[in-house]
Amino acid sequence: MTIKRAQRPLLNRRLDGFGTTIFAEMSALAAATGSINLGQGFPDTDGPEEVREAAVRALRDGRGNQYPPGPGVPELRQAIAAHQAAFHGLTVDPDREVLVTAGATEAIAAALLALVEPGDEVIALEPYYDSYAAGIAMAGGTRVPVTLRPDGDRFVLDLDELRAAVTGRTRLILLNTPHNPTGTVLSRAELAAIAELAVERDLLVVTDEVYEHLVFDGEHLPLAAFPGMRERTVTISSAGKTFSFTGWKVGWVTGTPELVDAVRTAKQFLTYVSAGPFQYAVAEALRLPAAYFTGLADDLRAKRDLLSAGLAEAGFRVFRPAGTYFVTTDITPLGGTDGFAFCRELPGRAGVVAVPNAVFYDDRAAGAPYVRWAFCKKLDVLAEAVSRLKNL
Ligand SMILES: *Cc1c(COP(=O)(O)O)cnc(C)c1O
Repeated sequence: MTIKRAQRPLLNRRLDGFGTTIFAEMSALAAATGSINLGQGFPDTDGPEEVREAAVRALRDGRGNQYPPGPGVPELRQAIAAHQAAFHGLTVDPDREVLVTAGATEAIAAALLALVEPGDEVIALEPYYDSYAAGIAMAGGTRVPVTLRPDGDRFVLDLDELRAAVTGRTRLILLNTPHNPTGTVLSRAELAAIAELAVERDLLVVTDEVYEHLVFDGEHLPLAAFPGMRERTVTISSAGKTFSFTGWKVGWVTGTPELVDAVRTAKQFLTYVSAGPFQYAVAEALRLPAAYFTGLADDLRAKRDLLSAGLAEAGFRVFRPAGTYFVTTDITPLGGTDGFAFCRELPGRAGVVAVPNAVFYDDRAAGAPYVRWAFCKKLDVLAEAVSRLKNL
């Protein structure tokens, strides 16, 4: 491309540094080497048959084939409200306090674009999900990472560090529990302390709870249920992880009418609406019996256990994830210190692909020795990966 007048880089400054994600590089490497891809977090089996059939029915019956209502179809908004009440004891008005989005990713971007003024500081737990950094940047905000530190067999949040990160310019905390990539599930005490801090310093919190049903030890508690938090919390979730349909991109936001209105103002000019027929299918999915949700967690727990044991046997230090799709390891016991180099060499050495956690850090040195593995794969695929890793 020749643009003679361009006296500056084509990509605007806000997006400088957000080139191709590591997942593209690692997935290409997996394909080129015939490796087992434990890099990207998507299941290798689709979600419930009856939910797929519900999508087919909606398409055939002409439900959702034209622009659905801006906030989402009423059936889905009602199902989201019923889900929040049944699982979390949270009462939300389906007409004023629920917004359907194009996955959690759009919900996060729209929330940041709506709530962050250029120059505002946004605190995010580090390592962070990669879209957070880009979303904060697009909103013109300044990212302030608070690093989860290894402690025994888990990564923990240092509450003093979080308190110290709050300044007069802090607008919001962008929280994620259960946490990708570390698998940490914030405890009641930790969430209570975060809530107290948010109330005391008058902060908003955007909380990404897409793994709310993927908890293996302990329980997921929504931050919005803590004292003083309902009026200052934007809660985000999605059907992708809960129903194993990551390609459908149906997400949602719940919060007060004021917060939901603000997020909708940004959202309507990003996609306006999306996933019409899938919205009807997800409404049915949210009404699946409780046994579906516990079955999902049981299935993923067995997969976590298989991969974690195999990684430990191969010599890694394994951080036991209490939730999510991922297990993080330290490669130091195997003689490495650079997760990037390790992941680039791993397909050639063992025929397995993983991703270096450093890409999820501002402080790349803090993340250097960690590598993330996805276990949302069939048991026989994980068993084969484990047997390949024995040769390391
Ligand atoms: C997968 C994931 C998302 C994206 O969800 P979509 O509904 O696919 O957009 C958001 N946050 C975290 C932490 C994730 O792991």
